[in-house]
Amino acid sequence: MTHGSTSTGSITPADWDRAVALIREADTLALACHVSPDGDALGSMLAFGLALRAAGKKAVCSFGDRDFAVPRLLRFLPGQELLAEPSAYPDRPELMITFDASTMQRLGLLMPCATAAGELVVIDHHASNSGFGTLHLIDPAAAATAVVTEELLHRLGMPVDRAIATCLYTGLVTDTGSFRYSSTTPSVHAMAGRLLATGINQDAIARELWDRAPYSYLAVLGGALQRAVLDPDGHGMVWTYISCEDRGGLPYGEIEGIIDVVRKVDEADVAVVLKQGDDGVWNVSTRSKGAVDVARACSLLGGGGHRMAAGFSSELPPAETVARLKELLA
Ligand code: MN
Repeated sequence: MTHGSTSTGSITPADWDRAVALIREADTLALACHVSPDGDALGSMLAFGLALRAAGKKAVCSFGDRDFAVPRLLRFLPGQELLAEPSAYPDRPELMITFDASTMQRLGLLMPCATAAGELVVIDHHASNSGFGTLHLIDPAAAATAVVTEELLHRLGMPVDRAIATCLYTGLVTDTGSFRYSSTTPSVHAMAGRLLATGINQDAIARELWDRAPYSYLAVLGGALQRAVLDPDGHGMVWTYISCEDRGGLPYGEIEGIIDVVRKVDEADVAVVLKQGDDGVWNVSTRSKGAVDVARACSLLGGGGHRMAAGFSSELPPAETVARLKELLA
């Protein structure tokens, strides 16, 4: 190990070696990340795609959303030209690699391709990962899938240039909440240091991720905060919702950060924001300050995530969904 690497200790040397061999042998690789990709999912996948391209291989990258579009916040990421719509994705890829997806279901429309793939390498850091591949590089101690991805690139001998580092840094900085969450270990900072050393523009990345919004966002945020309800039972829960109607013309992706305002409330250990997608389904984001394991409850409701940040989908009205969630958190 030349770099003072990461916490990928739960992955066996044999699995690393097999992944390296599979990737070295392949000329064309199909990469996928989870639906509604976040910075870690898309960043890790594009970083790996860019590295494969630099190594002279063909990489196709996608995610299985019905309305295939990169969230506005992530359009600054390099490597977008590697992306293809799910309909253009290979039906039976010889080698498929998934990033940050904890279950097969999280691949959405790409599930049949994953099922038919010759080899399916699963790269992830969710403790709840269901192990749906033929080879698993899963490290629940890693702060981000980007951490595991960087280690794999290192083992492949593929250099991390500025564009690749921009993608990996986006995964690292988003999944650690700007290096504020408890997952921010010394090795996370060491990795950030390696990425900064490539000359990435970390201030511009932060502005793209967190410090931009169209004017109409202010009114949608104001409405969500006015509807917030504090339920003091148990450890306390604060929740609010944003329906399609509440959102007006504001794209769904713009309301991602509202949970970060709601979760500030001192009187609540758990914060919940229900966001209705254009398809009418409610995506439920949950956050815990630590006393409550939200991943457990979200898994029971068909979703998943981490102990302190998890989510699931619901077709019930917001108040009913919250009532069901509350029962499981008790
Ligand atoms: Mn992640």
